[in-house]
Amino acid sequence: MSDMPSFDGRAVINGERVAARDGQTFDCLSPVDGRLLTPVARCGAADIDAAVAAARAAFEDRRWAGKAPAARKRILIRFAELIQAHGDLLALTETLDMGKPVKYAKGVDVNSAANCIRWYGEAVDKIYDEIAPTPDTALALITREPLGVVGVIVPWNYPMIMAAWKIAPALAAGNSVVLKPSEKSPLTALKLAELALEAGIPPGVFNVVPGYGPEAGSPLALHMDVDCIAFTGSTRVGKQIHVMAGQSNLKRAWTELGGKSPNIVFADCPDLDKAVDAAVGSIFFNQGESCNAPSRLFVEASIKDAFLEKALAKVPSYQPGNPLDKNTVMGAIVDETQLSTVLRYIESGKSEGAKLLAGGERVAPVAGGCYVQPTIFDGVRNDMTIAREEIFGPVLSVLSFTDAADVVRQANANVYGLQAAVWTRDINKAHGVARALRAGTVHVNSYDEDDITVPFGGFKQSGIGRDKSLHAFDKYTEMKTTWIRIDSPL
Ligand code: NAD
Repeated sequence: MSDMPSFDGRAVINGERVAARDGQTFDCLSPVDGRLLTPVARCGAADIDAAVAAARAAFEDRRWAGKAPAARKRILIRFAELIQAHGDLLALTETLDMGKPVKYAKGVDVNSAANCIRWYGEAVDKIYDEIAPTPDTALALITREPLGVVGVIVPWNYPMIMAAWKIAPALAAGNSVVLKPSEKSPLTALKLAELALEAGIPPGVFNVVPGYGPEAGSPLALHMDVDCIAFTGSTRVGKQIHVMAGQSNLKRAWTELGGKSPNIVFADCPDLDKAVDAAVGSIFFNQGESCNAPSRLFVEASIKDAFLEKALAKVPSYQPGNPLDKNTVMGAIVDETQLSTVLRYIESGKSEGAKLLAGGERVAPVAGGCYVQPTIFDGVRNDMTIAREEIFGPVLSVLSFTDAADVVRQANANVYGLQAAVWTRDINKAHGVARALRAGTVHVNSYDEDDITVPFGGFKQSGIGRDKSLHAFDKYTEMKTTWIRIDSPL
């Protein structure tokens, strides 16, 4: 930590670095070892007002929306290149701020965020509008227009990627953006705003306002001059976002929320080792702090013992280490509060009768940091708290089943519907179960296929709307019909 970079925790409003209007700050602490990284502007309603006013002015004078799509494309591609060029600093910042291993911060977070921004930039001058099949007496143009000011609120688990999934299509479509990052991980978003300016995105078009949810997030979601609120976070707050949108100006509201994803392994799984790797690797990746983590593992009863033996053999390789060490694969939990939540769930698993097979304890590979062992519970029933609720930590609940109907019923008996997987060599079973699962994404014989070209989002209480892919443009544009009367001279 001796060569730690210095951070600027001030907001970015109208192209300027500014302190909160009332001068308040909060301490940004590193979960790696508990040290203070920097004070960060503790923005509130007055700062949100200023950012929204800047975004509105930028939208109205069309300094961004009025540019040709090809011009916005060039600037967004430049933005992506700058993210890549500053990749080492951004990765180090992300690791210090939220605890993920630096090798993933660089290899996954930086690259995915840059790729997302490049992809939407490249897409925007290749999308055509439509002409409706009306009678000869009229021409009906169906066009897409930017909404105006888009408010974005994101969580702390993939700070850059979650921001990129929203700001990239919103900006590419010509909107202005006010982004409120999580108070637990605000630093890379502030750096992104600087890089956007350097790339040529005009001042006021992309503003970043750090602060706490109720103090900065709510004023954004309630703002009468914000046209859309795009939110990623918990289902609890997501529900409030829809209420706030309705209470204020009926702004468009999109929510990407929690998950409790089932990973279903049938006895005829084509490759047990691959299934074990995916089950263990995906729940422990990012310290289990992934909305789509396969936290409920359903293994067909006849192969459960063999599966668990292989899974337990993998656990030692996921012991948490210093996230700044390039060999570390599991880092720190984001903060003390989240660590307490994870430990509380582990206690509930024990007290409700699940069998702790591995882990369960806080550890300290770095003094002062927030670390917990990779944890596996067997003998979990679908009605136990650790099977019903999102833990957002490295805790795997193992359940078993007897046949396809039984496992589909158990898998769907949850309020969430974000992701799922089914492992079988029987094509009918694969399709039948995939179709029956109530989830936004279903994997067959894999868990973590990922590409910017595919939509991402959930059924049920996992949210409303989809990030990624060309479909995301629908969230940040209004559809307009223009009728043109044709009085034919013929
Ligand atoms: P959270 O809901 O506590 O916070 C998310 C964001 O909302 C933060 O920026 C926070 O400051 C803000 N916020 C909190 N209260 C608010 C309020 N009253 N008004 C407005 N904004 C408010 O979630 P979190 O703990 O940061 O993130 C974890 C959650 O995010 C998990 O449930 C996870 O599943 C979910 N998540 C979902 C996806 C997805 O794509 N579906 C992706 C990543 C994370």
